[in-house]
Amino acid sequence: MFETSTIELSKKALKNNLNFIRKNLSPGQRFCSVVKGNAYGHGTSEYVQMAMNAGVDYFAVHAADEAYQLVSGTSKKPDLFIIGSIENAALEWAIKEDIELAVFDFQRLEKIKELARKLNKKARIHIEIETGMQRTGFTVTQIPSLLNWLNVHKGSVLFHGLFTHFAGAESQANHFRISSQIQQFKLIHSSFESNGLTPVYSHSACSAAIFNYPDAPGNLVRAGIVQFGFWPNKETQIRYYGDTENTPDDLKRIIRWTTRVMAVQQVAKGQYIGYGTSYLALKNMKIAILPVGYAHGYSRNLSNIGSVLIHGKSAPIVGTINMNSMTVDVNGIDGVEMGTNVVLIGKQKGKSITVNSFSEQSNLLNYEMLTRLSPTIPRIITQ
Ligand SMILES: *Cc1c(COP(=O)(O)O)cnc(C)c1O
Repeated sequence: MFETSTIELSKKALKNNLNFIRKNLSPGQRFCSVVKGNAYGHGTSEYVQMAMNAGVDYFAVHAADEAYQLVSGTSKKPDLFIIGSIENAALEWAIKEDIELAVFDFQRLEKIKELARKLNKKARIHIEIETGMQRTGFTVTQIPSLLNWLNVHKGSVLFHGLFTHFAGAESQANHFRISSQIQQFKLIHSSFESNGLTPVYSHSACSAAIFNYPDAPGNLVRAGIVQFGFWPNKETQIRYYGDTENTPDDLKRIIRWTTRVMAVQQVAKGQYIGYGTSYLALKNMKIAILPVGYAHGYSRNLSNIGSVLIHGKSAPIVGTINMNSMTVDVNGIDGVEMGTNVVLIGKQKGKSITVNSFSEQSNLLNYEMLTRLSPTIPRIITQ
């Protein structure tokens, strides 16, 4: 209550994006919605609720705390997969809740097996394979003992998934590396099969791979950024449409972030605006102060660079972004007063401020800009 800004989430945009994703999947491929990082800053509970209403029934989070939050916030239980980290303290809870667990080392496998026996339940595991990302996953040399272990302990663990993660599928520069990851994963997949171990799901593709590597192996994709209406990067979008002049876009941003003017000031020519000397008024100016700053996730890198929309017109940021406020130039925009609506991200009267435009200006990836949006900003679901 009483927060200084609001994030709106559009149901219509989400539907559009889900249709677009489905259109690009291979026949029979299932979609798992990745909602780590507070659903890429959109707000996990609100986003998951929307996505479930739109037919999504499978979610992935990075860690057990996010899984806990998701389970507590939904009435109907979707399939849920922890892709990354899980501490021993959370394992018992996760197994009881039938949460699917990524496993990338033998210690964790042993622990899961013990707990599953104790609980008299089969734990659902996804085995991660290290194919070239050099992050997590069983290595090639571990595969023979892993196959043996899985066959011995079939009674305690359900071999639900086999997966790997690509080291940068969004960029053509990584083509050689990704292609060899694909080859490696296919080989390892067949050695599992020939040992009588066929996972329910095998998966490798993230958002970028859906478009750049449509033949990436698996009957499941784990997609994050694309469902929110963002291309992983501009290169992927251009490659998809093959048009660099006027690149089309079938995705629609779900997010819109708005606030209201908290004060309006006149500044005389020759005055510095805000802290220090980063902005000098070269003429008499009218400025508006907005109650949003870097504490809310509005990047300080956008000082003197970013802009907002007021009455459908662009108002450039002047001076540095403060912790809880920023100042914009409203010369030439009539009718700006305390309480006037301001769009920080999204559309107003046909004009728009995109996260992309910020990211290009501030060198922040979409991913990073989005996940910095403070969880305390209220999220509202709109049509
Ligand atoms: C974050 C993540 C994804 C989703 O990535 P996007 O680029 O947002 O689609 C998929 N798999 C793993 C292992 C991840 O960590």
